[in-house]
Amino acid sequence: MKQLYMAGLLLVATGASAATQTVDCGRLLDVKSGTWRERVSIVVENGVIKSVGPMTQAAGNVDLSRHACLPGLIDMHVHLTSETAPVVDAYRDRLTADPQDMAYRSVKYANRTLMAGFTTVRDLGAADGLNVSLKRAINAGEVPGPRMFTAGKSIATTGGHADPTNNLSHFLSERVGHPGPEQGVIDSPEEGRQAVRQRYKEGADLIKITATGGVLSQAANGQNSQYTEDELKAIVSTAKDYGFRVAAHAHGAEGMKRALRAGVDSIEHGTLMDDEVIQLFKKTGNWYVPTISAGRYVADKAKIDGYYSDLVRPKAAAIGPQLQATFARAHKAGVKIAFGTDAGVFPHGENAKEFGYMVEAGMKPIEAIRAATLHAATLLDQSARLGQVEPGFAADIVAVEGDPLQDVKLLEQVRFVMKDGVVYKKP
Ligand SMILES: [Zn+2]
Repeated sequence: MKQLYMAGLLLVATGASAATQTVDCGRLLDVKSGTWRERVSIVVENGVIKSVGPMTQAAGNVDLSRHACLPGLIDMHVHLTSETAPVVDAYRDRLTADPQDMAYRSVKYANRTLMAGFTTVRDLGAADGLNVSLKRAINAGEVPGPRMFTAGKSIATTGGHADPTNNLSHFLSERVGHPGPEQGVIDSPEEGRQAVRQRYKEGADLIKITATGGVLSQAANGQNSQYTEDELKAIVSTAKDYGFRVAAHAHGAEGMKRALRAGVDSIEHGTLMDDEVIQLFKKTGNWYVPTISAGRYVADKAKIDGYYSDLVRPKAAAIGPQLQATFARAHKAGVKIAFGTDAGVFPHGENAKEFGYMVEAGMKPIEAIRAATLHAATLLDQSARLGQVEPGFAADIVAVEGDPLQDVKLLEQVRFVMKDGVVYKKP
């Protein structure tokens, strides 16, 4: 891992100087039409794609003539500054690890994500401003990682899914104090507005709320509604004032309905959606981000004694296995789907397994790839810059061997990664 990371750094240093490069691809996926263009040369200038045309005889700087190229992949739901661990280790960290310790670890997670072909991610929640700092470090070229859009700290209500003080002892609670809007915990529309403005002040790019209970928080209920409609409306309308989109974590149907009616842009997980939720999705045109990977992983770990706490284990066992079937139903009904995994709930770098789960549940490979390129870029409000290999787009290119339209699992073995014209991984 260390060597891989060092290699990444080295390439940052050398790749950045090449102002104009040509990438020769054996074939390039046109994600819009869903067809391959054979033998293509991509000219990249200062990190942006300048032209895409037939491959000439003169060899380009990057020879991928035996590879299939695609736009860089986009994951709409990650937590780059933390990673799953057995509950004893998680509690130990809570007592002994400082934010700085977590920050150093996150460098490794970011690198792994980029090497897996994910050139852009939406980070949906971290403590202590870690994700905003990581984004700055990546943007400055100080550490290798995907382009990040961050929510800063998720906004929750007292005792809600993103209240960092859930289930603490009285002894610790008294010393830590009750978190407020500054720490992302609110209990009124007023505080909701304040929490959104605080995220703006801290450098977030979007807002994440936990509209219902969740699986991995130290709380009893994994699906109950945790906001009033007034609170949701205050958050969404304030977010719009600042140009923020709003992502809503939700497992229970009532919480999804409230969030969709309040005007959030995406529902994350969506586990227990009913027909009324599906109709609301279709009426509002909002996005569903399924995170099947997280469901599969927590359902698996719930079988192991002591991996999760006694509060978390039954929630993981009950909710985890349902996500893939929910995805299948939503997809069949025509709900708009953007690719998202909840990486961090499972090890970073395994994001591409989601493609296999989506296809297993009835989606065509090209649709799954569109969810992680075109559709994700649209949900990010970046559709003129990300998600396609076309002139004027950021030079985010990945390559695999073989045909991922035939076997989508090939995307789990990305051989080449370029982000903003910088090569991070070569075959
Ligand atoms: Zn999450």
